Amino acid sequence: MTAIRNSGNITADDGIVTVNGWVQDIRNLGGISFLTLRDRHGTLQVTMPKKRIDPELFEALTKLHRESAISVTGEVKASDQTASGTEIVPVSFVLHSEAASPLPMGVVDKVHTEMDTRLNNRFMDLRKPEVKAVFELRSMMVALLNEVMQDLGFVCINTPKIVASGAEGGATLFNVDYFGRPAYLAQSPQLYKQMLMSTGLDRVYELGPAFRAEHSNTNRHVTEFVSFDGEMAWIDGMEDVTATIGTIVDRVLRGLKERGGEQLELLGRGIDIPALPYPELTYSECLEMLDAAGMHLEEGEDLGTEAERLIGEIMAERGHDLYFIVDYPEEAKPFYIMEKDGTPYSHSFDLDYRGQEISSGGQREHRYDRLVERMGKKDLDIGDFDAYLDAFRYGMPPHGGWGIGLDRLLVKMLDLPNIREAILFPRDLSRLSP
Ligand code: ATP
Ligand code: MG
Repeated sequence: MTAIRNSGNITADDGIVTVNGWVQDIRNLGGISFLTLRDRHGTLQVTMPKKRIDPELFEALTKLHRESAISVTGEVKASDQTASGTEIVPVSFVLHSEAASPLPMGVVDKVHTEMDTRLNNRFMDLRKPEVKAVFELRSMMVALLNEVMQDLGFVCINTPKIVASGAEGGATLFNVDYFGRPAYLAQSPQLYKQMLMSTGLDRVYELGPAFRAEHSNTNRHVTEFVSFDGEMAWIDGMEDVTATIGTIVDRVLRGLKERGGEQLELLGRGIDIPALPYPELTYSECLEMLDAAGMHLEEGEDLGTEAERLIGEIMAERGHDLYFIVDYPEEAKPFYIMEKDGTPYSHSFDLDYRGQEISSGGQREHRYDRLVERMGKKDLDIGDFDAYLDAFRYGMPPHGGWGIGLDRLLVKMLDLPNIREAILFPRDLSRLSP
């Protein structure tokens, strides 16, 4: 039987093999023609000396359109002309599906292709090895997250994505017509993961979609992203949460560096592993730093994109890629965050990665009366949160947690220019297809 091989495992003494792939390129040089076959692992050269192979086979192979899907059977020969050290001299082939011509975009051409064209033809864009590599790394990242979370005793959960009330503010809710009743797409699993803290599951995590009707077009916002959420009960303070995040992010960085060598090389990226613990800046320290750098923010104002970027620059000069910003004004944070009594601040944090927020979290308000008071302050209708509040009336432990944007984490780890590079089929203000 003919061995099935790919560009990653073929060797010169394999004899007759079959390889599957796409026709990347054909070069006809008169007496000899070369077909570059691309598969998941790389490329192989199919060498066709005109005199030595069947004329019909030669004719058919050299006429193939670029990007057609084929299987080639042939003899492996050693070659000092190719990167793999091998080449295949064909004896037969199967054309599974011929590619139409011209192609909607190039796969290996060096010309720059606009992001819109790439996303419109994502199936073709993903044939580029460096584009595909991002999603292989993303898959490794998800595996690593699951591993570390299970090691830390977290229970993997799934919460509803069609919900009756939002937790992160009304402006970014998507409406759903739920059999005539108003409903929304979930902005985060916040209310559910908190309710679970009253059950004894103690530590939960979820990797799931989150929906935000973001009206601005930026390189870090999409309307559907994957949120990596964690929530933990019986904490002594917010430090338990930030320390856990440090452990998790560190494990993922190390794991990607270890497992993703091939993909990182394709992307021309290295992964830096910052020392633990990641430093903390308070919100007030940030205002001072910004002031000194010539940017004045009023006390209580949220740190915007520009302020985050500037803090990122200052922290980079100090040698820090990843850092927490803690103790935000309670006013700037959602109702479920615990206030820092006697101050205008709160037990909250953001994790920033080179000048961009990748996570928000904190200690939650677990005391029923204080929670209801806080909801009043935020002008929320308590009646909309009945089921959530019930979980706080019968014994709720102190707890805290985080939401990390998975796509943003990957973007920063790989230093990609746009969140859309890390999402297979991104959704944004203007894009609903493919
Ligand atoms: P930002 O201020 O950057 O818009 P946010 O503070 O509104 O983010 P949170 O509600 O804190 O976002 O959500 C937790 C995390 O989810 C964020 O730190 C981010 O990583 C991710 N996230 C939030 N909104 C988006 C979005 N529209 N697209 C991609 N990721 C997002
Ligand atoms: Mg946030």
